[in-house]
Amino acid sequence: MCIASLAGRSAVLLLLTSTFAVAQAFVADAGTSSSQTPTEPKALTLFDAGLIDKTVDPCVDFYRYACGGWLKKNPIPSDQSIWDRFSELQERNSYLLYTDLKKAADTPHTALQRKYGDYFAACMNTDLVDRLGSRPMLPFFARINAIHDKKQIAAVAAYLTANTPTTIFFRFAVEQDQVDSSKQILAIHQGGLTLPDRDYYLEDNPRMADIREKYRAFIVDVLKLAGESENQAKTEASQVLEIETALAQASLSRVELRNPDKRYHIMTFAALRDLAPGFDWSGWFAGIHAPQQEALNVGQPEFFKAEDRLIAAQSLEALKAYLKFHALNAAAPWLSQPFADATFDFFEKTLRGQIEQPARWKRCTAATDRALGEAVGQDWVRENFPPQAKQNTERMVAAIKKAFAEDIESLPWMSDDTKRLAEAKLDAFRQKIGYPDHWRDYSSLTVTRNSFIMDLNRSAAFQLALRLGKVGKPVDETEWNMTPTTADAYYSPTVNDISFPAGILQPPFYDFRKDPAVNFGAMGLGVGHELTHGFDDQGSKYDGHGNVNPWWTDADRAAFQKRLDCEINEYNSFEPIPGVHLNGRLALGENTADNGGIRIAWQGLVATLSEQGKSIDDKIDGYTEDQRFFIAMGQSQCENATDERVRVDVKTDPHSPGEFRINGVVQNFDEFGKAFGCQKGQPMMPKDACRVW
Ligand SMILES: [Zn+2]
Repeated sequence: MCIASLAGRSAVLLLLTSTFAVAQAFVADAGTSSSQTPTEPKALTLFDAGLIDKTVDPCVDFYRYACGGWLKKNPIPSDQSIWDRFSELQERNSYLLYTDLKKAADTPHTALQRKYGDYFAACMNTDLVDRLGSRPMLPFFARINAIHDKKQIAAVAAYLTANTPTTIFFRFAVEQDQVDSSKQILAIHQGGLTLPDRDYYLEDNPRMADIREKYRAFIVDVLKLAGESENQAKTEASQVLEIETALAQASLSRVELRNPDKRYHIMTFAALRDLAPGFDWSGWFAGIHAPQQEALNVGQPEFFKAEDRLIAAQSLEALKAYLKFHALNAAAPWLSQPFADATFDFFEKTLRGQIEQPARWKRCTAATDRALGEAVGQDWVRENFPPQAKQNTERMVAAIKKAFAEDIESLPWMSDDTKRLAEAKLDAFRQKIGYPDHWRDYSSLTVTRNSFIMDLNRSAAFQLALRLGKVGKPVDETEWNMTPTTADAYYSPTVNDISFPAGILQPPFYDFRKDPAVNFGAMGLGVGHELTHGFDDQGSKYDGHGNVNPWWTDADRAAFQKRLDCEINEYNSFEPIPGVHLNGRLALGENTADNGGIRIAWQGLVATLSEQGKSIDDKIDGYTEDQRFFIAMGQSQCENATDERVRVDVKTDPHSPGEFRINGVVQNFDEFGKAFGCQKGQPMMPKDACRVW
């Protein structure tokens, strides 16, 4: 699945992502925020003049001008490693969702409420979870221990994939065929790692070496918690690290994977068996109950060849240790407290600099949303997303889409032939706003209050069955990939649609009661961003039907690439913490979407105001319409993050940190400088700006 999101941090994909002197991470004291007693977070505001830092010149550092007050008032809560407007809103959405879940757990009125109420209640039952310890894992360990021949590895790996959230050796997917998007096919891609990126295994520097040693200690800890001796756990930790390091060496980088050609190699099953004969592919696909198919997408054939060599080279005991640790690691956050603590200590504290685990009710709310998002979302949208919000968003999307069409028409560097095809693609865009027209049917998912791990496993099996059920069927274009309460949005190039859950159509991003300028600045940026994804370095390779299809003339593609290079260089120069630069190639799609998005949102606002007989220079509460637009945009991206978190995100998250999302784009858009009376040559209005769209 290849989806470009707005914030990229939603853990709730249904099917399954200069200097920093002032905004240095500052973190609240432990214990001040991670309340075990749920309390309602304050209501949020779209455009708040009180958050502006008037001591900062907007022409020198617009991000700190727009966000200065917010940055000071919003230290990172101790149960977070990043705190921004997305997390602030998600926290509020989750609290409101929690109140629904609690009611459903205590007094369910419908069968659906009983189901998600039970799921939530099982998760909240820490007495039972602690009493069970690692016992829920025993049946899985027994299967792994019983392996006495490498030929059996595939069947056990399939069993774990089919019955738990474990991922082993590679990533399995059901996806749209990228050259014929009407087909849904089986796919396998590189994977099988535990650390956030292949670089964590491969980079030779003291910081990464230290993380690897702490990772090794974590593996030892959880294996010991599961009953192994110190010696045995140490041996197995070395085996796991060796296997994962070999998989990392065989993996392409995230930048390489941005190229759709690096994710697509259709092969018959017979050819796959020849490519990697040491793994029982027939047994694996039968084991996950995949439908019989002639062919599949083997995303990275070289990876699977290397994996085959690895399986041949490793001892049976080492491979079993890898399976065991992966099964345990997938369950550990939800096993008894010592497992959850060890998981938190390594993945959140060590890797991301977070001080405390979120309260149980927060974790269980998120887990219930992941498992039953379209069930729990039904009451939530009724309570939190009025029909008028949907209608107003539709009008805003239409205005921004029209502005994009006019923008394409006016491009001096693009030929008429390519323009016609770009406009055809734009015409073919679909949009989804708020929540699904048809809710997912969860009737085949069994939930009980007897063991949360079993609920979690059945949910993983349910989601796998749902995906497998799509193979060979027409694409359901009405399906969503995010839950309704998610504070995020996405573009899918293979469906060519943009989706905005009700969860993001809330202050501080959206407020239909407020003036168009602030709505176009904050949410309009999001709408423009998702539309532009259809034409970024990746999206531009797909046509309006969602097929990878080179629809550009060579000359236009070359001119486009030159423009992209300017943006790559611009963002490469940004340095969120001393010595750490952004990766302009990894973030290229997101940065292109931000830069194009702000321009078409602004044009959409100008057109909307003119229809209402207003001008961009009119003033409301002392700010012109365009100043309000830019301030609302800036205030949608205020962000505090720990240094450790920034380091992980620079490696893994294609989105630039908030500071650069804002200062990066205003530098490239002269209308900003004009709105604030900047001089050409000032930092926010440089003489050499980049422009892709
Ligand atoms: Zn995006």
